[in-house]
Amino acid sequence: MTVKAKKHLGQHFLKDENIAKKIADTLSLKDYDHVLEIGPGMGVLTKYLLQKNTTTHVIEIDTESVDYLKNNYLNLANRIYEKDFLKYDLTQIFNSEPFAVIGNFPYNISSQIVFKTLAMRHQIPEFSGMFQKEVAQRICSKEGSKVYGILSVLTQAFYNAEYLFTVPPSVFNPPPKVDSGVLLLRRKDDYKLPCDEALFFKVVKTSFQQRRKTLRNSLKIFNLSDNLKANTIFGQRPEQLSVSEFIELTGLIENDKN
Ligand code: SAH
Repeated sequence: MTVKAKKHLGQHFLKDENIAKKIADTLSLKDYDHVLEIGPGMGVLTKYLLQKNTTTHVIEIDTESVDYLKNNYLNLANRIYEKDFLKYDLTQIFNSEPFAVIGNFPYNISSQIVFKTLAMRHQIPEFSGMFQKEVAQRICSKEGSKVYGILSVLTQAFYNAEYLFTVPPSVFNPPPKVDSGVLLLRRKDDYKLPCDEALFFKVVKTSFQQRRKTLRNSLKIFNLSDNLKANTIFGQRPEQLSVSEFIELTGLIENDKN
């Protein structure tokens, strides 16, 4: 028995054992005792995780895949959660313990997976896995690049992001239409920002809502003083600002309010 791929769940099963092993090997397994795999499907990655010195948990939305895992990976036993990763409260599994996230992710929800990880950054020191190549590149891109955006800035504020390797469509069943890319995020030692973090998220999102406008125009809703708006940073477009300049910008806006 195998699982029939369902398009609406973004199911593209990896056929290549070497790539599965290579992805499982990206985790350092330092600083945490638990690993959460998102969307294990038929467990191609899971079986390599189970060989490691860590406790593997899997969260899978598809009942058919869950049945398959229960039948074929007996040692995963009660660590299979039939849930939607985006909706499930992960502290039900981990309390306040740290855990790593890994997966060959469903591409239809890849940005949301990253946003949820960022929201739980205090508990997630490491994150690794496969996205569609363009998304993986976007997350790792630097200022000045065409694909630099909200995902890049927010992720790199808290994590060192490394694009590891590209994977062709031919190693999946069914093959996706696009190339895939594996990336690794390692949380920075000093991931606490020297500014209001909620405001930082808001500033970054608002800045990129109108990519082509200067920050002076995009950030009007913050009611900035004329004095602050005269600062040359506001004459720039969001894609020109590095992550540390966004942090600096947030600090300026924060102080302007006081
Ligand atoms: N890791 C497997 C399957 C990858 S396909 C492999 O490499 O072969 C993506 C998997 O994510 C599918 O099994 C799909 O059912 C699952 N999935 C899709 N949306 C999900 C969600 N919201 N929460 C948890 N799993 C999800």
